[in-house]
Amino acid sequence: MNVLISAGIFLLGLAIGSFLNVLVLRFKTSSILGRSFCFSCGRTLRWHELIPVASFITLRGRCRACRAKISWQYPMVELLTGFAFLSLFNLGLEPAEFLFSAVFFSVLIFVAVYDWLHKNCTEDKILFIGELVLNDFLLPSEFHKELKPWIDRYEKETK
Ligand SMILES: [Zn+2]
Repeated sequence: MNVLISAGIFLLGLAIGSFLNVLVLRFKTSSILGRSFCFSCGRTLRWHELIPVASFITLRGRCRACRAKISWQYPMVELLTGFAFLSLFNLGLEPAEFLFSAVFFSVLIFVAVYDWLHKNCTEDKILFIGELVLNDFLLPSEFHKELKPWIDRYEKETK
């Protein structure tokens, strides 16, 4: 049973990682609702070309139509998120704590990948995202108690 739940958590992480890839790509540029397409030939991708990690492997990292290379970013971010979720799950957190931690880690991964791609995650942008996460997800939770000393120290150092 535990193995099944772990596998489910890992798959959830892969799916969220796939979503984070889309967010990174379209943040402030286009709607996140549009269909994904190949950047080289513009062809709309079919559902079986959008399965996290598996599609990258079966397509051998290339577009099915034009053979253009697909960035390693996609499977890497998916796997990273999958393993992050699995690690958090293995900590044996309470369900609410797991949820908040998973959201928090997803935001961190988003910020890291966005910064890696665009090199323009200025401190105020990161703080803005951090504040959103804090106010909406973490402050009302028990998890905040764990983070409080860390936040206090950060605020002291940046003043
Ligand atoms: Zn293509």
